[in-house]
Amino acid sequence: VAIIDTHCHLDFHVFDEDREAVLARALAAGVERILNPGIDLVSSRLVVHLAQRYPQVFAAVGVHPNEAMSWEANTYSRLKALATENKVVAIGEIGLDYYRERALQAVQKEAFQAQLDLATEMGLPVIVHNREASTDLLAMLIEWQAELKTAGSSLAERPGVLHSFSADLETARQAIAIGFKIGFTGPVTFRNAQDLQQTAAALPVDCLLTETDAPFLTPHPHRGRRNEPAFVQFVLEKLAALHHLPAARMQETISANAASLFHW
Ligand SMILES: [Zn+2]
Repeated sequence: VAIIDTHCHLDFHVFDEDREAVLARALAAGVERILNPGIDLVSSRLVVHLAQRYPQVFAAVGVHPNEAMSWEANTYSRLKALATENKVVAIGEIGLDYYRERALQAVQKEAFQAQLDLATEMGLPVIVHNREASTDLLAMLIEWQAELKTAGSSLAERPGVLHSFSADLETARQAIAIGFKIGFTGPVTFRNAQDLQQTAAALPVDCLLTETDAPFLTPHPHRGRRNEPAFVQFVLEKLAALHHLPAARMQETISANAASLFHW
């Protein structure tokens, strides 16, 4: 069974010098599946190419809330064309970021809603970024998932993942109630992250996913260095410990969770 990193930005320039070596280290660490979401149109094109080039890399296409000001009238159709490419398994990363708020909240919501509609049209789950926007974000996801259900879409059973989860337990529970998975990254390994660890421990194991969000959010004990997919094992080990399970068992569960969400 493979270790899986369902969120990594391999397309970023910070990997230009040694991308092959990063992928080789990931394989050596047992990381056999990496999902690379786009953050804008340019990045979405790059991740589609990376997925075509490397067997273990899969892609998601989308416009990140911090890039929402780049959303234009033709962005939808361009993303849609990319979403039909081989190995594109999700729309993402999309969502709301009221912490950085690089785009007005109304602009972020418009881009987010348009991409939820794109996910419906393409029959693909969503990879959701949420920073301090849980109320608005949940309201939009609950309404979207209800529409999927009404339309009889099978996507209602696998709508997506709340990636790099940093909100509270109640937010996680509401998302799980409508079929979402919850992705954890490096911060769950930090010594001062008791709240996040309690949340991860309280969630059912069949909703958990392991992510790096590399190059960001490097887990303990490599905190301070550039993150990379090989380090997802530290997130996996932490989630296993929090659930009092052997790492191999948690690895099997998470591998199955990812397969049921992304259909790979
Ligand atoms: Zn990300």
